[in-house]
Amino acid sequence: MSNSQYQHWQINQDTDNVVWLYIDKANASANTFDASVLDELADILQVIAADKTAKALIIASKKSSGFIAGANIEKFSQFENEQQALAFIEKGQKTFKQLADLIIPTVAMIEGFCLGGGLELALACNYRIAEESAKTRLGLPEVKLGIQPGWGGSVRLTRLVGPMVAMDLILSGRTVDGKQAAKLGIIDAAVPKRHLEKAARYYALTRPEMHKPAILSGFANVHWARYIIAKLLRRKVAQKARADHYPAPYAIINNWEKLGIDDEQAFTAEAHSIVNLLQHDTAHNLIKVFFLQERLKSLGKSTGFTAKHVHVIGAGTMGGDIAAWCALQGYRVTLQDREPKFIAPAIKRAFGLYSKRLKKPRLIQEAMDRLMPDVNGMGIGKADIIIEAIYENLEAKQSLFKALEQQAKPTAILATNTSSIPLDEINVVLQTPGRLVGIHFFNPVAMMPLVEVVQGNQSDPMTVKQALAFVKAIDRYPLPVKSSPGFLVNRILMPYLMESMILLQEGVAAEAIDKAAVDFGMPMGPIELADTVGLDVCLSVADNLAKHYGGEVPQKLRQMVEQKHWGKKTNQGFYHYKNGKAVRQKLGVSATETSQIADRLILRMLNEAVACLREQVIADIELLDAGMIFGTGFAPFRGGPIHYAKQRGVQATILRLEELQKQYGERFKPDEAWQKLTDV
Ligand code: NAD
Repeated sequence: MSNSQYQHWQINQDTDNVVWLYIDKANASANTFDASVLDELADILQVIAADKTAKALIIASKKSSGFIAGANIEKFSQFENEQQALAFIEKGQKTFKQLADLIIPTVAMIEGFCLGGGLELALACNYRIAEESAKTRLGLPEVKLGIQPGWGGSVRLTRLVGPMVAMDLILSGRTVDGKQAAKLGIIDAAVPKRHLEKAARYYALTRPEMHKPAILSGFANVHWARYIIAKLLRRKVAQKARADHYPAPYAIINNWEKLGIDDEQAFTAEAHSIVNLLQHDTAHNLIKVFFLQERLKSLGKSTGFTAKHVHVIGAGTMGGDIAAWCALQGYRVTLQDREPKFIAPAIKRAFGLYSKRLKKPRLIQEAMDRLMPDVNGMGIGKADIIIEAIYENLEAKQSLFKALEQQAKPTAILATNTSSIPLDEINVVLQTPGRLVGIHFFNPVAMMPLVEVVQGNQSDPMTVKQALAFVKAIDRYPLPVKSSPGFLVNRILMPYLMESMILLQEGVAAEAIDKAAVDFGMPMGPIELADTVGLDVCLSVADNLAKHYGGEVPQKLRQMVEQKHWGKKTNQGFYHYKNGKAVRQKLGVSATETSQIADRLILRMLNEAVACLREQVIADIELLDAGMIFGTGFAPFRGGPIHYAKQRGVQATILRLEELQKQYGERFKPDEAWQKLTDV
């Protein structure tokens, strides 16, 4: 066997005649499968099968990024027809079957990512061992792209660990680390890096008994048990995803219920199922969302600036959580407020966050040590980035930044978390106004993956780039936006919230309004969302936006705030809250009514989105869609607001807006920029 004939694989036969096969995909930082990688593997496996001297096969990776990240996802968006998709899936299945059919023992030696097709390859081996490290991630995340495992993963994993464990992983798409994978039986052992090769050789040369599911788990694969378990699984999935929005998990359950795991037909069904799912809009849109996510990450590429010390001023709802988040990400953080009593609650919340995320007392303690209360502002002069999160008051922010400019390191980024004050009004007090940028987090900080990076007219482009890189470094998605009232996300969200309150004023039940939005695919209805954000906060943002863009703030909202019914935090908003849960009535709402309500809510949002494009609040459609998906949870399977409008049809959307304008008034007047858009 000669290495030179392969682009993506390297082969080594050691003195014990163990074949070490390394994947090292050419011209790529991570290993992914495409046709050429699979073709070469098929070739190599044929040679190994015929080689009488080979005693065992160990598959590993040469890349520092990990084992194999899965199939090349770009490929999935490029199939021209079903036949092409099926041919690619069958190529993978056939190759992995060659691996599974080898008579010599086979071992996958895993470090780092082992996802999708990567895990399916490992599952076709007799044994799997992985590095015991948090960096090791194993999983079958296909469902997150609207598809399912197609290279034997759904069959082989279910055979290996039984349906309960397998279905839990496949239906959620979640990943597990080495230790958890060993506990679940997905791998045979998790060992420290220095023992990996030794462990791989041990399995290859001594051939211990292969893993089998516990008797009871294996039993769950029999026909009548599948019928009962499938019913339960469907019920569980339905709590999170509707079949018409997210068909993949239902297809996975149906296949398993019908065919189980013993027969070759199960593999055929799996291949046809993924091809069917690929035809669905949901898969197209979720694959698009995956690339949007990659694009956001790429905006935060390194500029050479690295922050070590973060100083946060204002330890309230936002500042406290921003500081805690940065310390969780490994930064040294000083947190300043006027008195210790304002900082204490933030430190308590941070402890809660670390206990949940880090679990181990030593790690929790280390994170707590990184987060330092700092009433006297000792951290200002040491910080590489200073984030202001005090009251939303122009004079207060101006006087703070004026003082900060004198005390901060000349290279430190000055950032504000303001939600509504234009940067060019704050930076007038600075000698170098270009230093100020907006870094606008969403509440709750630990849950919301998006952060808007706001550029004022004066902001220095390099400082903006550094801020984008900082946001990426703290594991959030940075979205560059222009400094205009509401920036992007709140500006587009607000008309949607306001329309929901106008509907309430008209006498429509809160439950009917929320149902319409949830049926459309929003994670939470607008009424419940407003109650959760706080009606006082909603009113102040709405007033501010109405001042700039016109439109009326619903009287109903004002009344609620005057009565101190501020939502969930006061147990009374548009809903009443008992033990933190909204008390709802059961209502029968007709499909026509639901779709009429949804149109009113969603089309106001779309119209505002188009206005943002016209005003160049955001650079392009993709970024706008990404911002709304990751900033508000806008139905991901619809691919973002503008993508949804294009899929619905631009002219059809304009006509519908005109109808609503006639019926309900000028707020539905189609923005002129609609004419520039084209259908998908
Ligand atoms: P908050 O009222 O909860 O906290 C503000 C904190 O700042 C208080 O603890 C106060 O003591 C402290 N403070 C005030 N003046 C100070 C000073 N001169 N020096 C040090 N500390 C001072 O406010 P919040 O909701 O966290 O909002 C903070 C900022 O974040 C605002 O600009 C707001 O617009 C923005 N924001 C808020 C949200 C939200 O959902 N609450 C979301 C995004 C952005």
